[in-house]
Amino acid sequence: MSAAAADVPEKTPLEERLISLIKANGPISIADFMSDALGHPHEGYYMTGAPIGADGDFTTAPEVSQIFGELIGLWLVQSWIDMGEPAQFNLVELGPGRGVLMADILRAARVRPGFIKAADLWLVETSGRLRHEQQQRLKAVGAKPLWADEFGDVPEAPHLIVANELFDCLPIQQFERLKSSWRERLVGVSEDGASLAFTHAKTPPLPEIILPPAEQTEEGAIFEICAPGETLAGEIAVSLVEHGGRALILDYGHLSSGLGDTLQAVRRHKYWPVLASPGKADITAHVDFEALARAAIAAGAAAWGPLQQGVFLERLGLSARLEKLCEGKSAMEAETLRLGARRISEPEQMGEVFKAMCLSAPGLPPPAGFEAP
Ligand code: SAH
Repeated sequence: MSAAAADVPEKTPLEERLISLIKANGPISIADFMSDALGHPHEGYYMTGAPIGADGDFTTAPEVSQIFGELIGLWLVQSWIDMGEPAQFNLVELGPGRGVLMADILRAARVRPGFIKAADLWLVETSGRLRHEQQQRLKAVGAKPLWADEFGDVPEAPHLIVANELFDCLPIQQFERLKSSWRERLVGVSEDGASLAFTHAKTPPLPEIILPPAEQTEEGAIFEICAPGETLAGEIAVSLVEHGGRALILDYGHLSSGLGDTLQAVRRHKYWPVLASPGKADITAHVDFEALARAAIAAGAAAWGPLQQGVFLERLGLSARLEKLCEGKSAMEAETLRLGARRISEPEQMGEVFKAMCLSAPGLPPPAGFEAP
């Protein structure tokens, strides 16, 4: 397919089926739409495509610079030391993509052979295609991971967990402040019945859904809730409290809960209409770190951060590592390394919109990078 043809929305079989379903049963929530568009077993975006990297639809920090994974590897080793160097623990990655981050983590963690020896490697991944890619890449660094469909399937043990750009693809619901009250924003069909279109629920949201007071909010405002993300943060926290450990969550998102429509789709490194060609574009929303921290704290865990990714990486030694890597390299190689490091850390690139947050078993010392400066 030529690049130009790829830019024209095409009707996917999933879209046809959603249109028929909505015509028969009424509109569906944005969360249900996202679940199908991303996770449908045969037609979901992550199940069928090759989403990540220069040839895919989007790129991520570990794909841009090896320093990202190396610093996180050392962060995990320090966390293991802070935990008293347990003889066995689960090293868990949620949503490992092409396995690049874990390969860099394991390479850097070789500085402490005891860490590697104690770690059982678990990858939580829904996509069979990406699992295969993870297996190939990790085999090359001598690792033998085990896979789980969901976090709850990972056996109980102290955990060290990392999740980069996983929470942003978990389904969200949106609520819009209409004339006098909140209504859930739903996915229906256009007037001519030919395509998917946004609409609203006819009745107000259930009372257990906590929204900002309508009288203090302007008409047209949007509030987003990621229930699966909050549930996952709570599950992680319960496990950390019971068995010990830490989780490092990196993603783009906001420091505190707020208003705004952050639902977006990306295809071939460009924005794409959210409802067009479901299954062919990545759909994400900003992560509400305050909501995740609230869920984790309610389950008894400690939460550190969130803080800007650039600040976090710099505190972990990004500049020093970059200079070390550039030693003895050609001018062109060094420039590529510098460009990558800048991209993941500079505020106007990925350094500010991306945040890092640590969930921790209570009683552990402040995690590296999160201490008060
Ligand atoms: N962490 C990687 C990839 C991020 S893309 C990186 O930084 O490059 C999101 C990843 O999460 C993909 O591997 C995708 O298949 C996986 N994923 C999406 N939804 C998931 C879910 N509900 N449970 C587990 N993995 C999921």
